[in-house]
Amino acid sequence: RMMFDQLIDTMDSTVKKLRGADKITEKNVDRTLKDVKRAMLDADVNLKVVNKLIKRVKERAIGEAVIAGVEPGQQLIKIMYDELTSTMGQKETLLARREEGPTVILLSGLQGAGKTTAAAKLALYCKKEDPPRKVLLVAADVYRPAAIEQLEILGKQTETTVYSLGKDESPVKIAKEAINNAKMQGFDTVIIDTAGRQVIDDALMTELKQIKEVSDPDEVLLVVDAMTGQEAANLTKAFNDAVGITGAILSKMDGDSRGGAALSVQEVSGQPIKFIGIGEKVEKLDIFYPERMASRILG
Ligand code: GDP
Repeated sequence: RMMFDQLIDTMDSTVKKLRGADKITEKNVDRTLKDVKRAMLDADVNLKVVNKLIKRVKERAIGEAVIAGVEPGQQLIKIMYDELTSTMGQKETLLARREEGPTVILLSGLQGAGKTTAAAKLALYCKKEDPPRKVLLVAADVYRPAAIEQLEILGKQTETTVYSLGKDESPVKIAKEAINNAKMQGFDTVIIDTAGRQVIDDALMTELKQIKEVSDPDEVLLVVDAMTGQEAANLTKAFNDAVGITGAILSKMDGDSRGGAALSVQEVSGQPIKFIGIGEKVEKLDIFYPERMASRILG
């Protein structure tokens, strides 16, 4: 099944049902939004996020005068589109870039979320920016067996230098040394891959905070697996409360995820999704465009 399939169907039948109605009434809006709500929950959008969105759509739908020549169904779709877009942060956001000294990008997330992959994808993205950046990838995930080797392989694939001190040094020290190294060697962007755990735990958060302190990052990006569905909202909130994120990368949007996470991140953290991962390969990274996603959701 395709992402948002049911939601698209629901919106479609909404337009059909409202066809012929000469105005949007509280009654037909309520009936419609009940269906929309069900379809959204089915697409794994977080309940609180759905409720807020529905409330805003309802207020506008009932409050707005019918625009001459526009069918009520179409008008409701337009309102949905606007509110979906603003739920996801309105406009795409760029990756921070410092004028002086290396820009530091810290990646965080649970184990298996796709951090190491995202680090390499971002490195490639940064190298293709105009002007291209000189990237240093930093292997600070010392706990997961093979994370360092994985980053080294991805570094070769993307022709990016990987900084590592092996797995016996602390991630805090690795981050610090890596940034010093970047300064000395003229790298303008440092991407730090950190360790994840199976679940959120205090030790992980404490370490992440320490790495953040020594690396003074311009970006703290949370890598969220789109397949985690409803859980994505709680996860985002937990990481944001503990370390403060500047944005997120939603990985595995190519899988059979229901896509709901795309709607939850901004609403619960106030920070935007900046990129989506759409495959395992290093070039499978896209900028996240809220407007395009809203169009996709509405079919
Ligand atoms: P980490 O533990 O957070 O560093 O996760 P990894 O980067 O090792 O990724 C875990 C698994 O997810 C690997 O098998 C990756 O190839 C895969 N993966 C990461 N991002 C994506 C994505 O956007 N799409 C797909 N299909 N797989 C991905």
